[in-house]
Amino acid sequence: MAQEDQLKKVIGHAKEYGFVFPSSEIYDGLSAAYDYGQLGVELKNNIKAYWWAAMVRMHENIVGLDASIFMHPTTWKASGHTDAFNDPLIDNKDSKKRYRADVLIEEYIAKIDAKIAKDVKKAQKRFGDAFDKAEFLSTNGNCLRRQAEIDGINDRFKAAMEADDLVAVKALIEDLGIACPVSGSRNWTDVRQFNLMFKTELGAVSGDAGVIYLRPETAQGIFVNFLNVQKSGRMKLPFGIAQIGKAFRNEIIARQFIFRMREFEQMEMQFFVAPGDQTKWYEYWKDQRIAWHKALGLGEEKYRFHDHIKLAHYADAASDIEFDFPMGFKELEGIHSRTDFDLKAHEEHSGRKLRFYDPEREESYVPYVVETSLGLDRMFLAVLSSALREEQLEGGSERTVMCIPPALAPVKVAILPLLKKDGLPEKAREVLQLLKLNYNVQYDEKDAIGRRYRRQDAIGTPLCVTIDHDTLTDGAVTLRDRDTMEQQRVAIEDLTAAVEAKVSMATLFS
Ligand code: ATP
Repeated sequence: MAQEDQLKKVIGHAKEYGFVFPSSEIYDGLSAAYDYGQLGVELKNNIKAYWWAAMVRMHENIVGLDASIFMHPTTWKASGHTDAFNDPLIDNKDSKKRYRADVLIEEYIAKIDAKIAKDVKKAQKRFGDAFDKAEFLSTNGNCLRRQAEIDGINDRFKAAMEADDLVAVKALIEDLGIACPVSGSRNWTDVRQFNLMFKTELGAVSGDAGVIYLRPETAQGIFVNFLNVQKSGRMKLPFGIAQIGKAFRNEIIARQFIFRMREFEQMEMQFFVAPGDQTKWYEYWKDQRIAWHKALGLGEEKYRFHDHIKLAHYADAASDIEFDFPMGFKELEGIHSRTDFDLKAHEEHSGRKLRFYDPEREESYVPYVVETSLGLDRMFLAVLSSALREEQLEGGSERTVMCIPPALAPVKVAILPLLKKDGLPEKAREVLQLLKLNYNVQYDEKDAIGRRYRRQDAIGTPLCVTIDHDTLTDGAVTLRDRDTMEQQRVAIEDLTAAVEAKVSMATLFS
């Protein structure tokens, strides 16, 4: 299936079955804002629970936090967001469309890259098994010329951005002859920096004095509480603080469904370590985080690391875990070695000491920080897009099934009386009462049993329990597995254990 079609399918399915709706849809929606429906909120909560258990419950030295979205405005001065959380934007005067200047340049480069890939493919076809890609790239005249062009553009762009020279960025766009995809014209405005933070006003104070921001990341709530948590929890280094919460960024171009939104949720953990230990812990967290993802069984080949060459002002090492979304490999989670940048900056701006007294080293110092930062909505999209399948069944029929990892599935068990009579609904409700103590279960007695199975497949329910006439006499039910579609008889008294074996989150940690 073409990648774009797959994304469209996911969006359509998510809406049809109550996972994700466009925000304020009756007013034609609001761009890049989405609402999670009745099943979406369950899946989201389960992803959060899996992350929280892995970070907080499984680590004796990690604790949680829930900081407020509004923070003192100096926080963002200290973190660098007021001055440097910008994207360079440019408008086309004819179409009135706005673009990120860096994205226009990246797309131009991607076209040259595509030409190189085409040449490689052609040569591969011509030379067959004898083809050596590395040698071809380093000797073929066309490829060398194209690569040199890419390098030249990258160098010019990097130099312009580092010098904060927006005139040079515009000159680059003009020299490359980049045209607006909508109007086709090269009639561009100057490039301007656009700050991604949303501003609002606090209480009755108007004007600059009352300006505050919606937090663009949850991390700063952790940094400003570093000492509160360390002291009240008597934490010793190394230790971590984990937080799940909303973040807001006024993205210039927000698209690709819930991948890039203006209001989204982050699951972040800041791990405080002694200076000098950061590389060891950076590697540790890279390993831990990739293992957390892979345990879900979405497919090992769907993940890759992308190490950053150009680092943010606060980092000494950074890597993204990229996921193979329907739009291709894109950033899912970031792991950053943030040095002592943030705590030091907060010390300077607040005048308070944010240090840890190390009894072994007999000195106090500002800790270094390794951060893991995962977008909850991107994680949701990763699960949904890889789970949705259309399967051909024996006998020629088809089914749409969501192979959501059972521990994350919104509904764990569907309770289905075979008929709506003969005391079967009553017996089914007894089983429902039993299972709902531990699991999110759904009762369904409408339509033929086959159609009910299909409905549960489509929302990813791992198990269906069918109550039939035999149940009334032998006290057993039929348990049907979503993935294998196999059915087995299970005594009602053994049902909880059978469900637990299938859907327990504990299996993900083994
Ligand atoms: P990108 O390069 O895609 O804009 P970023 O590098 O700015 O992302 P970080 O600042 O590292 O992202 O944020 C950490 C995580 O938060 C990301 O890995 C991503 O999962 C999530 N995230 C960031 N921006 C958005 C957004 N606009 N919508 C949804 N999730 C986001």
